[in-house]
Amino acid sequence: MKIFCIGRNYIEHAKELSNPVPKKPLVFSKPQTALVRENRPFFYPDFSKDIHHEIEIVLKVCKLGKYIAPKFAHKYYNEITLGIDFTARDIQNQLKAKGHPWLLAKGFDGSAPIGKWLPIEDIGDVNNIDFSMTKNGEAVQIGNTKDLIFDFDYLITYISQFFTLQIGDLIFTGTPAGVGPVVIGDKLEGFLGDQKLLECNIK
Ligand code: ZN
Repeated sequence: MKIFCIGRNYIEHAKELSNPVPKKPLVFSKPQTALVRENRPFFYPDFSKDIHHEIEIVLKVCKLGKYIAPKFAHKYYNEITLGIDFTARDIQNQLKAKGHPWLLAKGFDGSAPIGKWLPIEDIGDVNNIDFSMTKNGEAVQIGNTKDLIFDFDYLITYISQFFTLQIGDLIFTGTPAGVGPVVIGDKLEGFLGDQKLLECNIK
C-alpha cells in the first residue's frame, strides 16, 4: 500500500507559507509506518521543535489502474476520510533550503493519522465538501474542496501517469490555510461537515 500526499493544493495555504502556486500537483509520499489509526495519540518526536498540523481529505483507492483517463478517475476511489499530514516545519525548512526531499520532515512515524472512512455515496458532490479542524475546541483550519487547485479526479489521473494505483492506496489531497504548531497536551479534532471523523491527542 502506498501513501501519496499533495502539497500546496489550496491557494491560501500556498500563500501563507510564501510558496508559489503550483502549475502541476506537488506529489510526495509517506511510508506505511506513518499511519495512525483509531484515534491513537501522536507522540511528539525529539527531532523537531515545530510540528505543524495539516488537516486534509484522504481518498482510498478501490481499483487497480495506470494511465487513468479523466472521465474514469471518479471510479478509482470509493471512500474518503480526514487525515493529518503532520509536518516538522523546522526540518522541512532546512531540507527546502538545500533542495533536499521532504521525507524526514513529512514521513516520520506517526505523521499520518487517519479517521473513520465514509463511503463516497454518502458524500454528495465531492467538489463541495466542507471540512475543518479544531485545536482544543477552537476552529483553526476550515476548507472546502471547491477551492482545490487540482481536484480529486485530476489527482487520480495525474498520479497514475507515474505510478500504478493499487487497491488500498491512500491520497492525502492537500491542506487549506490555517496550519500551525501543536504542543504536548493539545487535542485536534477533524470534522467533515458536522460529522467528527478524527481525534488526535498530542502526547
Ligand atoms: Zn499536507
